Amino acid sequence: MRICQIASGSKGNSIYVESDSSRVLIDAGLSARELTRRLLAIGVAAQDLDAVIISHEHRDHCSGAGPLCRRYNLPLYCLPQTYAALPSIGAVDYCALETAGVLRLRDLEVETFPVTHDAVAPVGFILTAGRVRVGIATDLGVVTRLVRERLQRCQVLVLETNHDEQMLQDGPYPWSLKQRIRGRHGHLSNNQAAELLGDLLWPELQAVFMAHISETNNTVELARQRIDRVLNGQNSCNPQLIVGQVAVASESFECRT
Ligand SMILES: [Zn+2]
Ligand SMILES: [Zn+2]
Repeated sequence: MRICQIASGSKGNSIYVESDSSRVLIDAGLSARELTRRLLAIGVAAQDLDAVIISHEHRDHCSGAGPLCRRYNLPLYCLPQTYAALPSIGAVDYCALETAGVLRLRDLEVETFPVTHDAVAPVGFILTAGRVRVGIATDLGVVTRLVRERLQRCQVLVLETNHDEQMLQDGPYPWSLKQRIRGRHGHLSNNQAAELLGDLLWPELQAVFMAHISETNNTVELARQRIDRVLNGQNSCNPQLIVGQVAVASESFECRT
């Protein structure tokens, strides 16, 4: 499988995942034009996507979904509650995902699991093809037992390291927004992500994508240092760390088992 963070951060999120015979986009939070351009830059024609799958209705995850699906006649998958809440999605070929259901696209299986976040029905994803398992959890306030269980035994993880707790505390956001971000329905801090990752380490872990890093309440250096500390403190695996950004697509990771 091949994984690339097309964009990651509070201004836009999208993840490209490719198996031997399927290609999907998880979230589409950039303009259709920019998504098309960034996909092309990694050698993917947008019209060749098999599905655009949306995790929740926040604009940074779905702003380009309607235009992209219409332009290339792509099916849009999400939970019915999410579909009903999508802002100005327009006419699209909508396919319902089921809570905790499995979507099969040839050799690729996409499973959802619920996360706590301030959206109507936010989900994380497990994508499986052959022996490769990819776990994605990018907007969640707390790590529930279910989230921890579902993300076990992945070769590739996409985890949010949204904020540094001290920077958020000292930063410019109004108190109510600070409360929202650090609350049960907000985003994971570097510390929370590091603690989660510590529980997910196993010999087959090959890559960790750091996602949704706040440009106001975090730095790539702080997030990376915190994650490095977890990885340096163990010797069961040595995954590659890849940082997601809003401005440019990340490098792609090719996972083979
Ligand atoms: Zn969100
Ligand atoms: Zn988000």
